[in-house]
Parts: sequence; structure tokens; C-alpha cells
Amino acid sequence: MKVSKRKDSLRVVVNCVVFSSMLSACGSNETQSVVEEQKKDQVQQIENQAVVVGAGLSGLTAAYELERIGYSVTILEAKERLGGRIGTVQMGTQHGELGGEFIDGPTVHQEIHRYASLFNVELADTGYWGEIESGAYYIEGKLVSYTDFDESFDTEIVNDYNRFNNALNLLVDAVPDANDPAMLEVAKKYDLTDVQSWIDDMQLHPTAKLIAEQFVRGEFDEPSDLSLLHLAQYARVYELVSEDDVESHRFLHGGKAMAQAFADNIEGDIHLNQAVTKISELDGRVTINTISGDSFQADVVVVTVPLPVLNKIEFSPRLPQALSDAAKNINYGSHSKVLLQYSKRFWLEQTLGGETIVTGLPTGWTWETTERQGGEGGILIAYTSGDYSVIQKDWSDQQIIDARLDEMEIMYPGSNAFLVDAKVQNWVAEPWTQGGFIAYGPGQVTKYWKLFQQPVGQVYFAGEHTDTLYLGYMEGAVRSGIRVAEQIAQLN
Ligand SMILES: Cc1cc2nc3c(=O)[nH]c(=O)nc-3n(C[C@H](O)[C@H](O)[C@H](O)COP(=O)(O)OP(=O)(O)OC[C@H]3O[C@@H](n4cnc5c(N)ncnc54)[C@H](O)[C@@H]3O)c2cc1C
Repeated sequence: MKVSKRKDSLRVVVNCVVFSSMLSACGSNETQSVVEEQKKDQVQQIENQAVVVGAGLSGLTAAYELERIGYSVTILEAKERLGGRIGTVQMGTQHGELGGEFIDGPTVHQEIHRYASLFNVELADTGYWGEIESGAYYIEGKLVSYTDFDESFDTEIVNDYNRFNNALNLLVDAVPDANDPAMLEVAKKYDLTDVQSWIDDMQLHPTAKLIAEQFVRGEFDEPSDLSLLHLAQYARVYELVSEDDVESHRFLHGGKAMAQAFADNIEGDIHLNQAVTKISELDGRVTINTISGDSFQADVVVVTVPLPVLNKIEFSPRLPQALSDAAKNINYGSHSKVLLQYSKRFWLEQTLGGETIVTGLPTGWTWETTERQGGEGGILIAYTSGDYSVIQKDWSDQQIIDARLDEMEIMYPGSNAFLVDAKVQNWVAEPWTQGGFIAYGPGQVTKYWKLFQQPVGQVYFAGEHTDTLYLGYMEGAVRSGIRVAEQIAQLN
């Protein structure tokens, strides 16, 4: 990341023009051609300016790729740090993620693996092996290890949960092409169906139903707020992916290392605390105004802000109604994370890896995030999603932490005695995101799919929400940055 020098470089261009006119007035042919060359260079420089709004993974990728095709790029970021929904926090000698964390295997999240390898950012694999089970369900008021569930739990519940999984797998028939999920008539019907009604229709055993609902809530959002077609699209994307490749990696030194590696490989300036307030386009040039009163000029602007905050930016001319309506209406999953650091890994004493799929409590999911970080103790993530996360919107951090601790104590009695530290992020309440990640609501896939893949004049869009394969993932964010740079490359 560079110290801001954007205004200086503009001043250099202006000074050069004055100097060139004076020289050309002097007259010699040789001087004239030098001046022409200089002018050409200046025009070249001016033609290739881009501003990227947002320094999350999509913005950083777009900036890196735009520089590779000759653009001079400035990034404007509202927050005081890079990374957006990647938020690594240090807790003593260990760290954890407030946002994006898991990465699938290299044949799935290909672009993340490619950039990590390009920039020498280390990845770690996840989980424990051998005697240690990866985790347990918390069902009917007790912990049931995954093996015990599969091998010896109430067969009606197990069979019904398998019935749900089979139905999920069958959804792929409605989506022959994951990039274009609404091709078939049946898919359009699915889009009008909410996932809760679909689950209700299965008439599952109540316990199996709670597990199914928690799966949907944790991965996407409250089942009643999710389009069945979004779920079907996901099922298609993951149809042939082996379980071993799902959530198999994370950044060894945190997502922060990946964001910083991008920044280290970007020449242009990255301005933090520079929320964009207005984007105006006139005669093919774009002016970008920020909260601090600064103004930036560019030929193209790439807007990567999450949809819930897109309408905070004033556009001139106005964004087409369809886009501003979409930004207002498209559903985002609501998720929050509490990082609970304990002085001992009490879960290992129960030969469990720390993952818990929870029913009947607001904590929906727990897992250890420090398997490769050494130390006696470790950090467990307590993940809360859907309506349970929405109701905490105005809670203080301490209220959220206390609620999670109470629930941990119910599931793992005595655990509170080992608590060392806690950090919290409720993304619904985060001012520059106001949600977790895109989770299309009923009727929204057919209405809005790919809407933000087309530019409006010189305004381009990127961000996880614009991807058509890995929406909701870091991979989707990175892919969208590549896609937008490819679109802009076609201008020249
Ligand atoms: C709780 C949670 C868990 C997740 N877990 C995973 C996971 O395990 N694996 C996975 O792959 N993905 C996960 N994700 C999703 C992943 O984090 C995101 O898909 C990805 O980081 C989004 O990147 P982005 O660049 O699209 O958006 P962002 O990272 O949100 O970047 C957008 C940037 O724009 C900035 N901004 C907003 N408004 C303005 C403005 N007016 N002016 C300037 N800047 C502005 C924001 O501050 C932000 O930095 C998770 C997300 C959450 C919230």
C-alpha cells in the first residue's frame, strides 16, 4: 500500500501541459515531436485511470488485474483497514476470523489458491485427525458425535435427515447450468418457493427438521427468507465436490495476510477512511467524491460495495431503477461470529474437534479455528445466523458475548471457567456491510441474477454478490474482480 500521492500525480500532468505549450511555442520540429510524444503519454495516462470503491477481496483483485492491463488505479475504502468482510483479529499469540474463513480445495476455490500461491500466502488445512472426531450435533439437549449419530442414533431421525440430504441432491435436476440457474420452467417455480415451505412439505421428524433448518440458516440465511432456486444452484455447484474438498483450508496467518499480499502487489494508492459518497459521470469521465471532501477523476469506476450499502452512494446520472431496487431488495444472509478463546481445548478431552451443529439455541454452529496455531488453549467460533442474528442488531458486544457464553455453558458445561478473551462481529450491524453475504430471497434469482454484471456507462460492479458460481464466498469475490477487469480490458 502506498502513501497517498494521487493529487501530486494530477498536478504533474497539469504542469506538463503548461510546459509543453511553452515549448511548442518555441517552435523547432524536434521539440515539436518531443512535445507530441509527451502529449500522447499524457493522453495515455489519462485514458487509463480507474478508481475502485472498496478494498475487500473483490476490489483488491480488480485493482491488481486492472494494473496488469495498464490502468493506473486508486482504491477508496470506507473503513480504517483493508479486507472488508475478511477481518482477522489477534488474540494474544493466536488469531481468528471475524468474517470469511474457510477455503475449499484447489480444484474448487481455484482462484484463491492461485493468488495465494502467486503471492506466497500460506494456506493451512483444517481439522483434526485420528482419534479425534471432527465434531458433534447438539440435539435433544445433548452432544451426539457424528459417528454416534450415523451408527447408533434414533433411526427415524437419521433416516429423515438423510431424506433431507437426498432431496437437496435432487434439486440439481432443476439447474443444468449453475451459471444460469433459471433456465428451466421448474427452476422458475423453485424460485418462487421459500426453503422453509420446501422443508415443511417433507414432514421430517422434528429433530431432523431442526438440523436441516440449521444447515440452511448457517450456510445461507433463515430458510423462510431463501429462494429454493438459490439452494438448488448451490447443490449444482457442489454436486461433484468431494467432502474432503469442502472447507478444507484457511489462510495460515489469517485472511489479513491475503489482503495485505494483494495490497503489496498493487502500485496505486489505497486510501482508507475514504467512504465514497457520490459518483458522477459526464462526457465519459467519472468523478468520485468522498466523505472527506476529496474528489478523484477516472475513466472507469469499479464499485464493489455490498448491496445493502450501495444506495448510500449518490449516482449522477441516477442508477437505473432496476439496480437501485435490487440493491434495496436482494436478501442478504444475517450472520455474526463470536470468537471465544479458552485456556484449554476442553473439546479435545471429549475426543471432539470443536465443531458443533446446534439445534434449539441461537448459537447455530461452533468450530475451532486454531488447530494449526499451537498453544494449550484455542479459539472456538460461535456462529449465529438468520433471525437469531437479526435480533441482536442493536445489542452491545458484551450482550452478544454473554449470550454465546451461556449457550456454550449449556452445551459444554464448565467451559466458561477456561475463557480468556472474546471478540465479536455482528455483520448485520456493521455500517459498511449491513449483512453477511448474498442469499437470494424467493422470486429474486429470476428477477435479479447477473444484473450487476453489466456496467452502467463507465460504472462497473464487482463483489461476491455479482458472481454466478461462488456467490457468498471469498472465491466469488476474487472471481468477480477478475471478471470486471476482463470487461474493462475490452474497452481498449
Ligand atoms: C460471517 C461471515 C462468514 C463468512 N465465511 C466465509 C467462509 O468461511 N468462506 C468464504 O469463502 N467466504 C466466507 N464469507 C464470505 C466472504 O467473506 C465474502 O464473500 C467476501 O469477503 C466478500 O468480498 P467483497 O470484496 O465482495 O466484499 P467486502 O469484503 O465487503 O468489500 C467491500 C468493501 O467496500 C467497502 N465499502 C462499503 N461502502 C463503501 C463506500 N461507500 N466507499 C468506500 N468503500 C466502501 C467496505 O468497507 C468493504 O471493505 C463469510 C462472510 C461473513 C460475513
